[in-house]
Amino acid sequence: MVAEFVIVGGGGYGCAVAYHLALRGHSVVVLEAEEIAAAASGGVGKRGVRANRRDLRELPLMREAYALWPNLADELGGDTGYVRTGSLSVIEKDVVGSRGGLVAAGSRAWTQSRFGVPTEVWTGEQVREAVPQISDDVRGALYAPLDGVAAQHATTLAYARAAKARGASLHEGARVAELHPGRPGRRACVVTDDGRAYEAERGILLAANAGVPGLVSAGFGLELPAWTVYPQVVLLRPERPVELPHLLGHDSRVLSVKTLPDGVVQLSGGWRGRLDPATGGSEPVEEHVTGNIAQLEAVLPHAGRFERLSVHVASPECATVDQIPFIDPVPGADGFYFATGWTGHGWALLPAASRAIARMLLDGELPPELTPFSLTRLP
Ligand SMILES: Cc1cc2nc3c(=O)[nH]c(=O)nc-3n(C[C@H](O)[C@H](O)[C@H](O)COP(=O)(O)OP(=O)(O)OC[C@H]3O[C@@H](n4cnc5c(N)ncnc54)[C@H](O)[C@@H]3O)c2cc1C
Repeated sequence: MVAEFVIVGGGGYGCAVAYHLALRGHSVVVLEAEEIAAAASGGVGKRGVRANRRDLRELPLMREAYALWPNLADELGGDTGYVRTGSLSVIEKDVVGSRGGLVAAGSRAWTQSRFGVPTEVWTGEQVREAVPQISDDVRGALYAPLDGVAAQHATTLAYARAAKARGASLHEGARVAELHPGRPGRRACVVTDDGRAYEAERGILLAANAGVPGLVSAGFGLELPAWTVYPQVVLLRPERPVELPHLLGHDSRVLSVKTLPDGVVQLSGGWRGRLDPATGGSEPVEEHVTGNIAQLEAVLPHAGRFERLSVHVASPECATVDQIPFIDPVPGADGFYFATGWTGHGWALLPAASRAIARMLLDGELPPELTPFSLTRLP
């Protein structure tokens, strides 16, 4: 089969880039090993659309994403579950190393605001007024009113349907096993594990998240300084209802909290499951689950104990050595591009980054807004 563009991976990025290409009238095929939104862009709960405390190199894209999220459901003609809640990153300590604490809050707020991420420094009293169950140890917070949450599974399906409606062809159960770069007289192509070949006239995007390092290593001998993590999400029911209108993060504790319907609390933010070598899948680590819940109970002590409802660690995510993604033409592999290494925070950037990645495929080179994510930043 031949198309102008082939995309490997049917998560948020694969589907959104396919949408942008199909919207401009280009032929595009998406190959997804399992089903659309099977991995990091699916699963329970919601994802944070958060710029607060994000790596500064990602803030220009975040500013663009802020403008796109509110109208995305209308644009795609499908639900995104997007809600602009604002986010609070609460602070308990005066100083946290050389990167945090009350001492750093003003500088962080100033810088974020200059990047187009309006940020206020709140006092402990302001935080307690907004979140009555918060610990008395909380002494302040960074508040970013334009942050929010979105439903990852619904949004990915909305992109997939919108891409399909504009002519994109999406194949589920199509696991790519081989990559062949273009050569004079031969188009770049991928081959699935059941032997089907897909050729691209213009470009092949590897958007397979944690699958990308293995594919480029086997295909081109390229070793990316990146690895797989299994982000942990725990759903809980508090003893007393939590009033939490905002996304909640923390300056020095590893936690991120969202409220879901029916009083359920979604807890995540940096704790991980692990690979089970026997099955090749992932499994929860009990100390990480109890550790995460202990952090939550320390930050929201007035909500009482939290009853554990379920633990989820099934979705692999590619993390990079400097914690921001790799987006680039693949060096030395004509016709191939990758977008991976989201390091646990790729979701919020999706509407803006996917548009820029589509531009990269159309122009055959990295657009200026993606230069911070080029592999050339490394020696
Ligand atoms: C639990 C969890 C919580 C998160 N929370 C946040 C958050 O609050 N805020 C935020 O900004 N980000 C968050 N993230 C990160 C964000 O969800 C991801 O960065 C984003 O969804 C990545 O999208 P993707 O399309 O690149 O990858 P994925 O959605 O993982 O899609 C990749 C797809 O490629 C497929 N694939 C793999 N190998 C092959 C192959 N060989 N052939 C064909 N297909 C293949 C997979 O089946 C998968 O469907 C979180 C991630 C997780 C896992």
